[in-house]
Amino acid sequence: LNKITILELPFISTTNQAFTQLLEQRLTRKQNTFIVTANPEIAVYAYDHPDYRNLIKTADYITPDGIGIIKAGQMLNTPLVERITGFDTLTSLLEIANKYSLKVYLLGAKPEIIQKTVTNIQQKYPKLKLVGYHDGYFQTEQPIMEQITQTQPDIVAVALGFPKQEEFIAKYRTVSPSTWIGVGGSFDVLSG
Ligand code: UDP
Repeated sequence: LNKITILELPFISTTNQAFTQLLEQRLTRKQNTFIVTANPEIAVYAYDHPDYRNLIKTADYITPDGIGIIKAGQMLNTPLVERITGFDTLTSLLEIANKYSLKVYLLGAKPEIIQKTVTNIQQKYPKLKLVGYHDGYFQTEQPIMEQITQTQPDIVAVALGFPKQEEFIAKYRTVSPSTWIGVGGSFDVLSG
């Protein structure tokens, strides 16, 4: 997979289609995967915060999420193939989950938002197995981590905003050989 470095982050440079195929392959092989969909805000924050930068560099894939990253690639004469957003990647993952009846866990957003997201996802992707969910305003991570450990989801989508979502994933990704992805405000869109 071709990579292009912008603000010291190795972004994947590929099409959404090729990336989706790769994720489908990794999911069916139950390979532990960490995806960061980095928009300009994340890239700049990572540039200024070495701990966060090192943490997101442990991801298997950092995708260029936003026109600002694409523009930066052009300006540096190292163009990226195309934009790969968190929302589009989550949609692709849910489609794959529906195709193979995979297990999905959703974490994040406000209680009423996650409820609506769950209802909408179950309606749109009836064959996907939703094994658990939790809103993003919890006191302790322990019960969430235990539920993920027990249910062993194929996909864990985390919408806590950055840097929280990536910190959560980096801390817990070994409890289940899942595909873990930080999805920012995607549940707010899916709940509508
Ligand atoms: N969020 C959450 N817990 C928190 C902070 C944020 O669940 O402690 C949720 C918030 O409700 C929203 C999502 O994280 O659904 C993304 O928030 P935001 O748009 O601020 O993050 P960004 O898109 O900039 O990563």
